[in-house]
Amino acid sequence: MRNLFLLSFLLATSQLTAANKLRVASVSTIDTEIVQQVGGEHVEIAALVQPGVDPHEYEPTPADLRKVSDAQLILTSGKHMENYLNKLQEATGGKADLLKVGDYFSSLKMKREQGEQSRSADEGGMAEDPHWWHSVNNVKEATKLVRDELIKLDPADKTDFEKNAQVYLGKLDQLEDWIRRKVAELPRDQRRLVTSHDAFQYFARDYGFKIEAIEGLTTETEASNRHVSELIDDIKKQHVKAIFLENTLNPKVTTQITRETGAKIGGSLYPDGLGTGDASTYEGMMKHNVSTIVDALKSG
Ligand SMILES: [Zn+2]
Repeated sequence: MRNLFLLSFLLATSQLTAANKLRVASVSTIDTEIVQQVGGEHVEIAALVQPGVDPHEYEPTPADLRKVSDAQLILTSGKHMENYLNKLQEATGGKADLLKVGDYFSSLKMKREQGEQSRSADEGGMAEDPHWWHSVNNVKEATKLVRDELIKLDPADKTDFEKNAQVYLGKLDQLEDWIRRKVAELPRDQRRLVTSHDAFQYFARDYGFKIEAIEGLTTETEASNRHVSELIDDIKKQHVKAIFLENTLNPKVTTQITRETGAKIGGSLYPDGLGTGDASTYEGMMKHNVSTIVDALKSG
């Protein structure tokens, strides 16, 4: 009798929670972590862009569109990262709230990435830099946006959302302290970041770095000889000790640069969101990037 009571009680509560969960779809690995942390047990998340997937290349598949069809909230990176938002909204019949998280933060400019022509307004070859999450402050603001949106859609669980957001914001404060201490190991005049992908403007602004992106240094595009020789001159003149790569680099040009400048390869960075292994959380990704940059530039 007692067991039967317990069983029916368990069935009732599990049905209740399944029905009560807020259905969220996300096309940003950063947004996914935030909504997991803040939403906790109250959200059911369809993470369409998985860690390690290049968000610049991602397009929703028919199966992805079926996953968003009953979502109540869609989280995106914003800042023109996604050019398929109409498709997502159509898939929900226009019923879901669309939160373009990055659109709430001030924009820094970047050199246009290959193939981005149609994605954002042209301003003399410059575009909005969509990589806002390299600023911990932006991620804190994103956490508050997501918290307020969850409260709007599910006011009954307001207390939990507020409590969870508070805990996550505390972790982000600790991360910010850690980054500032780590970056302080590097004298200001050595904070020069040469990367293959112009994605670290927000990072540079917050932590006092100068950026030099190796334009066109991917496997898809040939860097122009002139650009490479200018870059080689810059690296020599500024005594840059290391340059940082991504896995899509053209090894021939990289070898040329390291040979002619004496700069070494400082390691690879995660520019486009969460990765795998130690970079599968936001904290892990930021610590990987910061350690890689500081340690390589410090030791020479
Ligand atoms: Zn990128």
